[in-house]
This record gives sequence, C-alpha cells and structure tokens, in this order.
Amino acid sequence: MKTRESCLICQIVGNKVPSYKVYEDDLILAVVDVNGANPGHCFVIPKNHYPIIEQVPDQELANLFSVANKISSAIFENLKVQGTNIFVANGIPAGQTVAHFMVNVIPRKENDGVNLQWKTKQLTEEEMSTVELKLKEQIQNVGVLDYLRYPLHLLRNVIFFIVI
Ligand SMILES: [Zn+2]
Repeated sequence: MKTRESCLICQIVGNKVPSYKVYEDDLILAVVDVNGANPGHCFVIPKNHYPIIEQVPDQELANLFSVANKISSAIFENLKVQGTNIFVANGIPAGQTVAHFMVNVIPRKENDGVNLQWKTKQLTEEEMSTVELKLKEQIQNVGVLDYLRYPLHLLRNVIFFIVI
C-alpha cells in the first residue's frame, strides 16, 4: 500500500489517528468528518496515497464513487435530510486542503448555510467552440471514450451470443 508519513489521511488509514469509520474494505475507507459541513458529512478515501483524482486508477475510482453513492443513500434514509452533495476538491485552487484524494458526501437541508453555489460566466460562441475543441481532442487522446465504450460493447456481444 502506498502511504505517506506526513499525510493525515494516511494516518487515519493506518489507525494512527482515531476516526469514526462507517465503511471499510481492502482499498477503501469512509469516515465521518469531525469538521464536517453538516452533521453526518463523510469522506470516502482510497487507502493508497493518491494526491489528486488523475492518479487514482479507474477501477478504484469507480469503487470510490460507488461507496459514496451507498453512503449518500444511508444518509438519506437515516439522517432525515433533503439532499446530498457528492463533492471533490481537486487541487488547491479548487479548495483541496489535504494532499490525499477524497470524495465528500455532504448531507443537505434547505437553508443549512452550506454554500456550493457560483455566479455563472457568459462565454462568446467562439470561446465556447474553442473550449469544446480543446477538451474533445484531449479527452480522445487519453482514451476515456474507448475505456467507457469497450466493456459495454463486449458485454452486448456476449448477451447477443447467449440470446442466439
Ligand atoms: Zn495520504
């Protein structure tokens, strides 16, 4: 397991710091945040030390969000809230305060004082097209679409084969 001595989250994973665990498996841990935005605010973390989301392997990332979704359901059913935010701060300008990737699950009620809203920025059509092009090209280069399509495509063939 990749850990970093100076990382607070790695210390939680290694039980060097006490925590309120709500879920644990070989690769993932979810704990209640003692400094949460609302009561029941949890964070879901990979046990391996990955500072930012880009470093988390796809399968681990999928599992992290799956656990976050289940914690969100548990929060809905047991804490009498009206909503949740599933939130990632990726990078210091985005509000990331610890160098260990985490998915926050924040219970929400109307007028609870938690502010995740922003003022919208209007772009010209040209600016929109430029952004679209730049992103599309990059996303195709890293093969995200192949990764997402390929397993489904395979699965469809298997189902087709079984039906035939
Ligand atoms: Zn860490």
